[in-house]
Parts: sequence; C-alpha cells; structure tokens
Amino acid sequence: MATYLRRVDDTIVALATPQGVGAIAVIRLSGKEAIELANRVFFGKNLERQASHTIHFGTIRDGDRIIDEVLVSLFVAPHSFTKENVVEISTHGSSYIVNQVLRLLVRQGARPAEPGEFTQRAFLNGQFDLAQAEAVADLIHSDSEAAHQAAMHQMRGGFSGEIAELRAQLIHFASMIELELDFTEEDVEFASREDLRLLVEKLLRVVERLISSFDLGNVIKNGVPTVIAGKPNAGKSTLLNALLNEEKAIVSDIAGTTRDSIEDEITLGGVVFRFIDTAGLRETSDTIEAMGVSRTREKMKSASLILYLFDLGDTDLVAINQDLHQLENIGVPFIKVANKLDKGNPQFINQLKEAHPDTLFISAGKKENLEELKEKILEQVNLDKFRTGNTVVTNIRHVDSLTRTRDSLLDVLGGLDQEVSNDFLAMDIRRSLHFLGEITGEITTDDLLDNIFSKFCIGK
Ligand code: GDP
Repeated sequence: MATYLRRVDDTIVALATPQGVGAIAVIRLSGKEAIELANRVFFGKNLERQASHTIHFGTIRDGDRIIDEVLVSLFVAPHSFTKENVVEISTHGSSYIVNQVLRLLVRQGARPAEPGEFTQRAFLNGQFDLAQAEAVADLIHSDSEAAHQAAMHQMRGGFSGEIAELRAQLIHFASMIELELDFTEEDVEFASREDLRLLVEKLLRVVERLISSFDLGNVIKNGVPTVIAGKPNAGKSTLLNALLNEEKAIVSDIAGTTRDSIEDEITLGGVVFRFIDTAGLRETSDTIEAMGVSRTREKMKSASLILYLFDLGDTDLVAINQDLHQLENIGVPFIKVANKLDKGNPQFINQLKEAHPDTLFISAGKKENLEELKEKILEQVNLDKFRTGNTVVTNIRHVDSLTRTRDSLLDVLGGLDQEVSNDFLAMDIRRSLHFLGEITGEITTDDLLDNIFSKFCIGK
C-alpha cells in the first residue's frame, strides 16, 4: 500500500458546505475523537451512547451561551466516508455561527483540516484508490451530464478495476521471471515467453485505448472546444450572446442559483461547449482571408467544431466559397451558418441553397432558428460517444502514467524480440508495473499525494 505516512490520529474539522450565507451549513469532524469532541459542546443527549447513522437535535453551547440549535449526524468508524468516526453538525447558515462553532471545536482539540484532507484520509484508510479519490474532485466539479457520468463511473471504480486486473496479470509474470533468476543454473522457464508476449500485447491494446480515450475525456471534462468564425459584423458576438442568454435565462429561472463562470460555456444536450476566444471571434475580428497567417488558424485547428457564420446582407458568393475552401483545408468539422435571415435577399438565399444545400439559415439578432442550430451542433459531436459508459480517461496525470506504461511495455516487447537476459526483462516489467501503480495509488510519493489533494477545497 502507500508509502505515505502522515499523522492520522488527530481529529480534523472544517466547513463542508460553501462559504457564505445559506439555509444551513454543515461542519464536519473526522477522527478518533470526533464524537467525544462534539459531545463536549453539544447539549441534548450523550452522543457517545448513540448508534451510527443516527441524527440528533440539540444545542451547541460555549459555556452557558447557546450558539445555535443544530442537528448532529453520527457515523461510527469504520462506517463513514473516511472510515473514521465522523460527526456532521448542521447549523443555521450564518457565517458568524459557523465561525463560532469551528472555533469552539478547535478549542476542544480539533485541528482545522487542510484542503482535501477528508478525501485523503478516505484514501489512506482504504476507502478507495487514488483514481477514485481524484474522481471525487471531478464529481464535485462536474457541471454537465457527460462530466458527471465520467466522474461517477471512475469513482465507482470502473477505471481502477481495469488497471488492477492488468497489473495483477503482469505481477504474476514478473514474479515468475524473477523466480527463474534464482534458478539460473538449471535453465528452467517458469514463464512462457510466448504467453508473456501475448499478455504484453493485450496490455498494450488496453493501454492504447485508454490513452486515446483522453481526447474524449478532455472534452467531457473541459467542454467541446468550439470556434465561431466569420467576417467582422457577421454577427458572431450576437450569436454567442443569444446562445448564452438563453442558457442564463434557464439558469436564473431556478430561484437562488447563480453561476459566475458560464461566460463562454454553453451546455447543450448534457454536453458542455467551450467557445474558444479566437482573436477573430471578438477583439480584432480577423477575417477568414487572413486566416492563413494568423493565430486564428491554429486555434481553429485545435477546435472540435467550427461554426462558420456569414452575413446574408453581404451577397458575395465568391468570397464565401473561398472561405469555405479554406475551412475544408483545416480539417475540423464545421457548420455553415447564414445569419441575418431577416434582411436576406430572397434571390441570394435561393442561390446559396443551391450552391450549399447544407447551409443553416438563422437570425442571431431576432433569435430565429436557433433551435435548429443547436440540434445541428449536437449532431456534429456524436452524442453517443459521450454515453457509452466505457472507461474514459479524464485526468492528465493518468494519461501521463499510461504513456509511460506503454513505453515500458514496448521495452518489454523489444527485450523479448532481442532475447535479452531475464534481469533486464524483469526490470522492464517492474517499470511498467510501477507506472500502472501510480494511477491507482499502489505506488505513491508524498509529493504526488500532496499535489493531488491540495487541489481539493478545504472541507472535501
Ligand atoms: P461580429 O463582428 O461578427 O461579432 O458581429 P456582431 O455580433 O457585433 O454583429 C454586427 C452587427 O450585426 C450588429 O449591429 C448586430 O446587431 C447585427 N446583427 C447580428 N445579427 C443580426 C441579425 O440576425 N439580423 C440583423 N438584422 N442584424 C444582426
């Protein structure tokens, strides 16, 4: 198991709900003395005599002073998230109350938790492996159906299961070959080289598949990178705003919800689309003609989808054809969108329909045909691939370890080809095992763990 050692016999405390005013706030304690500490400030009944998974009403007091009326939930070790004693105190959601209760508990001997420390304890106590712990963070941050599904799948062990099985098979071979090292005189072969080759090839296929799933994983986690291209004044900002406003309107319909960072993100059909701010998009309005030399072209290449917008008031079919030709060369799927339908010349519209029957006619300003546009966008990203339930790698750290695993497995194959000595073979296999183990946390270092868990918020 982990080589990581941290003092885990103290009791930690933190606010588990967001900072700020809410109807209720939840303060979480975890550690051997969690229940005892809570009991010293809780008045109502003796918490130390209550069963696990029960909730109790009472008051929190600092001496004679009542700080709040609260509900306390008890989770007795090992039946809790951290596998330690856990107490959750639900107070009224005032930051004053929260601070008072936190101080009181710290005065009783609890230690303020560090970022991610609850999840870290869960990992250290064997609740789940590292990949699953990371999935907890992804789950907390998931803001679309696809991201939620991927994180959920990983948290429930999908990814880890696959890796663990591969590792187990490889460990078997490693030990067989190491055993042969002890019998060098006798010239025995415990591990069939042919079987080893078959296994390594199988592993390589799985590892390759996982590595290549990262393209999709990245899109699921960070959104489909999308560019809106077109000449200045084609209506690019108007379109983006129209799409965004619609979403904002839906969001603000749900009373009390606020989201601050949806500026350039739109969720359609459970998938996040992230609009890339190309120079051409808003600021300098690079034209497609200038694309050949501009950074815009690079941005477009890195996109998964381009919306090419042109102005129906601007009836230059030759220029449009040139632009479209340029776009074809980029090789990213694009949708032809003719804007300003409200002031389009019918003759030109017919001409366009003939030349480019797949053009979608909209009015961003008048919000016409935006639904059709959304449908078309969704068609392009092939939603099924988001819903496969297959293992998808969403974490850059995992891709990194998988890539190193692949390289060492290739070394194993190379070694088999060249019939290298057993100790070299065993070394390459051990190296592959090491990198696979990094993913699930069988192989860890303090730095790695600190790095992972410090990205969590306090209280998680
Ligand atoms: P951008 O330079 O491509 O971002 O274009 P803008 O979004 O700034 O739009 C340029 C102008 O076209 C603005 O005055 C918009 O109000 C106008 N516009 C955008 N969409 C439409 C539309 O559907 N119909 C009409 N008539 N005007 C539009």
